[in-house]
Amino acid sequence: MIILDTQKDYKKHINLLKSQGEIISLVPTMGNLHDGHLSLVKIAKKKSSKVITTIFINPLQFGKDEDFTSYPRTMSQDVDKLQKLNCDILFAPKSKNEVFNKIDNLKNLKAGPKGNILCGKIRPGHFDGVLKVIYMLFQLTEPDLSVFGVKDFQQLYLIKQMAKIYFPKLKIISAPTIRNKNGLALSSRNSYLDKTSMEIAPVFYKILLDGINYLKNSNNVEETVNYITTNLEKNSFLVNYVSFLNAELEKIKLNTSDKKILLSSVKLEQTRLIDNVEFS
Ligand code: AMP
Repeated sequence: MIILDTQKDYKKHINLLKSQGEIISLVPTMGNLHDGHLSLVKIAKKKSSKVITTIFINPLQFGKDEDFTSYPRTMSQDVDKLQKLNCDILFAPKSKNEVFNKIDNLKNLKAGPKGNILCGKIRPGHFDGVLKVIYMLFQLTEPDLSVFGVKDFQQLYLIKQMAKIYFPKLKIISAPTIRNKNGLALSSRNSYLDKTSMEIAPVFYKILLDGINYLKNSNNVEETVNYITTNLEKNSFLVNYVSFLNAELEKIKLNTSDKKILLSSVKLEQTRLIDNVEFS
């Protein structure tokens, strides 16, 4: 695996791959890689001839009281994991300037109204920051495809919308959520959980699944949201939001076969967990 940390070297390698007619896939991450991230690399491997993973903890997507400084940094373990999967290139920019040298061009890149609901409501500006880094990575890499996890459903939705406008030829691939054996969605932030919280955390997903059954019986969204919220609170979760939306992040219509998603974010002690479940 070739490891690069400057934009100049990265661009040089990209140009080489392009001149060789390679089909390039891009897997953007913030590192501290777990099996969820690795599943994206495996999907990318199947669908392209060269896989690029990026590891960059993007300061623009962290609020000022958030965990930018304490976010887990595990570069040498991450390199080992990517090497085992035969990832072709790791781009790990050594500083913000290796990504955002054209930040002025990005001033107008905004996630818009759908970036201000759900996680965007509790993390103002978060999705503007996400879109800026992904825009830059797409522009530098010009990949044929890029793989993102459904785990971050709202992020995936907003990236798809942005790509449609600015990178119309790029294929965005959605990858399913990888969970541990108790159902807890893998996340780099799970490493913040102590032993007791690790035992409680899987209950989050179980309550969401139970909530979907409740909706099917009650046929009442508001009552179900209250039911789920109460259940989460009873189990020590502080609820940020519980929301039933369709694939366009709009209000769901019951009694249709449309895809529906139950999305939620909670805090357990100081750790934010997000998850979602699709159903029809
Ligand atoms: P992050 O490093 O948290 O920015 O995540 C990088 C990519 O991995 C994003 O596309 C996430 O949606 C995806 N991802 C994170 N957790 C999981 C998971 N448990 N299963 C599948 N994909 C995931």
